[in-house]
Amino acid sequence: MLDSFRNSLQKLLAKVRGATFIDEKVLDEIIRDFVKTLIDADVNVELAMRIGEKVKERVLNTKVPEGIPLNNFVLRILYEELVELMGKKSYSLNIKPGKLNKIVFVGLQGSGKTTTVAKLAYYLKKKGYKIGIICADTYRLGAYDQLKQLAEQINVPFFGDPNEKNPIKIIKKGLDQFKKMDIVLIDTAGRHKEEKGLINEMKEIVKNVKPDEVILVIDGIIGQRAYDQAKAFAEATKIGSIIVTKLDGSARGGGALAAAAATGAPIKFIGVGEKIEDLEQYVPQRFVSRLIGVSIEDLEELIKAVPKSMIKGKFTLRDIMEYYESMLSQGGITKKLKEIFSLGSISDKQLQIGIKRQLAILKSMTPEELDNPVLLKNRSRVLRIARGSGTSVTDVRRLINQFEMMRKYVRTLMRTRNLTKEAAVAKLLKGDLNIDELKDIKKLKKWV
Ligand code: GDP
Ligand code: MG
Repeated sequence: MLDSFRNSLQKLLAKVRGATFIDEKVLDEIIRDFVKTLIDADVNVELAMRIGEKVKERVLNTKVPEGIPLNNFVLRILYEELVELMGKKSYSLNIKPGKLNKIVFVGLQGSGKTTTVAKLAYYLKKKGYKIGIICADTYRLGAYDQLKQLAEQINVPFFGDPNEKNPIKIIKKGLDQFKKMDIVLIDTAGRHKEEKGLINEMKEIVKNVKPDEVILVIDGIIGQRAYDQAKAFAEATKIGSIIVTKLDGSARGGGALAAAAATGAPIKFIGVGEKIEDLEQYVPQRFVSRLIGVSIEDLEELIKAVPKSMIKGKFTLRDIMEYYESMLSQGGITKKLKEIFSLGSISDKQLQIGIKRQLAILKSMTPEELDNPVLLKNRSRVLRIARGSGTSVTDVRRLINQFEMMRKYVRTLMRTRNLTKEAAVAKLLKGDLNIDELKDIKKLKKWV
């Protein structure tokens, strides 16, 4: 289903899942890829960009629940925004018991109406309903035979008249014959090539047949062009719903679903193949979960609190806080460390004052900020922290930059020496570095 759209989404989300650290730069990259993937699926460019901005804003401004790794949180937000884009809600057919429910199918030629009539008949029959099918396509040669064969294949009563040219007359005769059924599905011609003709044809049928529901069948291949069609349709009838077909093929099906959903018209089913059983009730959550290759259960799991031990591998501001605290309790900083950090000219006393100021800043941060430094890209947070610690925005920013630098040291040590985070921090703290390690760090400094 939607192979290329699914592949790029899954690739992107695997990257998010595997990310050990997400700062604003990484987040921007993720969002850029996300927006590109949507545009490739023919989601409207403006819409795709708006969603990208929304994801970023949500990541930066939401309070990340305690203990949840930021990458899981980002994944969850991407999922939620995709669900929102794809329609959010699921709808069922309006079938009332104890009467004949008339459902008329409309749609441009080749959109998949006739196939979908048979698929839906099969689907509803399996649910235990008594179904009848009427062929009111008097326009296309072979329409009668096509639907008759399909109806026979699924063993559903069929009515049509290849000699009658007036579709309304056929429908009336058919309805008479199917009086005792629960549901009758009526296939029409869709003989027009453009939306306007289609809508007029539909209005004519609705006026004469008084259906309980009209289903517009949209070919997924048309991508975002589905918007105009769905909009005109939704404006023309209050009893309309939508089925998008051929989602097994074209990547643009994603754009078609998003476009149809954007009109507010309910999408009730999707066609996912040529076979009679290739019709599914459309549930955006389930659909998106399949697209991104993460189960609904896993998605729920993602936002449940995870034990602190699982995020141990990340170097956070919390580590810096502990680092400074231990520096103070150790009564200063070793010569070697001063050398590493290029602090040679600073006296111990100055250093102490500096560290105390840093600690005041760190203590004005919330637990979420300590764990997720990306939150500090938000100006109002920085301002709040500066006020709370009696320092300035520049001081807070400087601390964040220093943190970024240390994070790189720690990561280099972890990588080149194959150390755990704790061991790397301890090594750095004690200035316990050999020549090679010092060289690594010096090299690092050039691009810090
Ligand atoms: P109509 O002109 O609107 O009645 O369209 P048809 O039902 O005759 O379908 C046109 C073509 O689309 C046929 O070849 C169908 O097999 C094909 N088709 C319909 N639905 C789907 C679908 O969900 N997936 C695929 N791959 N093909 C479909
Ligand atoms: Mg047809």
